[in-house]
Amino acid sequence: MPTAMEIYKLLPKTNCGECKFPTCLAFAMQLANQKVALDACPHVSPEAKAALEESGAPPIRLVSFGSGDLAVKMGDETQLFRHDKTFYNPTVLGLVADDADGLDAMKAKIEEAHAMSFERVGQIMRVDSVALRHSTGSVDDFVEAVKTAAGRELPVVIMCDDAGLAAKAADACSDRKPLLYRATASNFDAMVAVAKEKSLPLVVGASTLEELTELADKAKKAGLNDLVLEPGTESLADMLVKMTAIRRAAVKNKFRPLGFPTIAILGPDMMNHMKAAMGVMKYSSALLMDDMPREMVYPLLALRQNIFTDPQVPIQVKAGLYSVGEPTDKSPVMFTTNFSLTYFTVRADIEKSKIPAWMLVVDTEGQSVMTAFAAGKLTPESVAKSIDDFQVKEKSSRNEIIIPGMVSRMSGKLAELTDMKVTVGPRESSGLPKMMKTLSS
Ligand code: SF4
Repeated sequence: MPTAMEIYKLLPKTNCGECKFPTCLAFAMQLANQKVALDACPHVSPEAKAALEESGAPPIRLVSFGSGDLAVKMGDETQLFRHDKTFYNPTVLGLVADDADGLDAMKAKIEEAHAMSFERVGQIMRVDSVALRHSTGSVDDFVEAVKTAAGRELPVVIMCDDAGLAAKAADACSDRKPLLYRATASNFDAMVAVAKEKSLPLVVGASTLEELTELADKAKKAGLNDLVLEPGTESLADMLVKMTAIRRAAVKNKFRPLGFPTIAILGPDMMNHMKAAMGVMKYSSALLMDDMPREMVYPLLALRQNIFTDPQVPIQVKAGLYSVGEPTDKSPVMFTTNFSLTYFTVRADIEKSKIPAWMLVVDTEGQSVMTAFAAGKLTPESVAKSIDDFQVKEKSSRNEIIIPGMVSRMSGKLAELTDMKVTVGPRESSGLPKMMKTLSS
């Protein structure tokens, strides 16, 4: 966003007050703080408006494709390093189905992509898109596969160098807003015309950054704003260098021709698993993979989940009294914090015991047991309050609570505040199954 003085220089400076501010400078200051919209001044010239919109745009344009709940967003990033603030839009992961393998194999790949969905720390992680590629197979198979993919939920990428065929495929999934892949120097005008006519986002590809810059600039001047950049990524090192250069140019230098999301296509090569992991970290907005077995997808999705979680906002679960299995009023009660990773780890360990239990989750603003205890967010008072708030004594007649071994120091005070028997549990939740078996016997 430009500064107030930069905005002021572009305003009419007549102080007419029609924007409801006494002076143009006052309006500029509010605009710089994003408290008002530029439209509030009816006298801004079209040139000044264009300049202000351009300078106020995010360094990397937000580009989306797909429709409905599973539509995906790419770009709109503002940081070079995640620890400076956060990354916003997780790398889109897609599986490529190639018509060289025939229609049945393509349909199987579409189903495979839809089945790649996992739950981790209470969140659903999934492969986000399916790409249909025309290479050496039948044109009819290709279009049929696009139609099949359009009938499913995941966003679609149309991979085809022939603009005429790309247009036909786009018509086969016109209400799904597919991503068109791709315009290069050899098909540039025809592919840009298809993307413009159908209002679709377009991948622009080149083997050097200079050529990529030139093509992206040309596409923008032709009226296309929703672009995705594909630099050639021959080797792991090449991919790292080019993706970093694009991100740095966009975020640090505000170099508009490279201010778009990026994409990399990874063929069936073991090295590509490493490329995929690196792409998630630095800095691919989308990765399309020819081959990614389920056992490789899960760690990749977990990595993505970690990288795209706001480091200042821990993933939390709701505080409350949870049942594990089908507990009764004779079942044991234990507590932990509402940091997701802690909650799911403790819960899994309780489940391993096969003994139904009550699990009290105390609100510690998403901090783990030791962190919350050290920060004063997990105290005997806060645990006693949770016992009251979530009516633990009404649910369990044992009048006993098991506390994490790491906070054994709170046992005396907690017993005093609650009139409950306080049993110190193991320091690590992995010790819970053994301990619970002792309790129940
Ligand atoms: Fe200035 Fe425009 Fe506000 Fe008038 S309406 S005071 S010209 S900013």
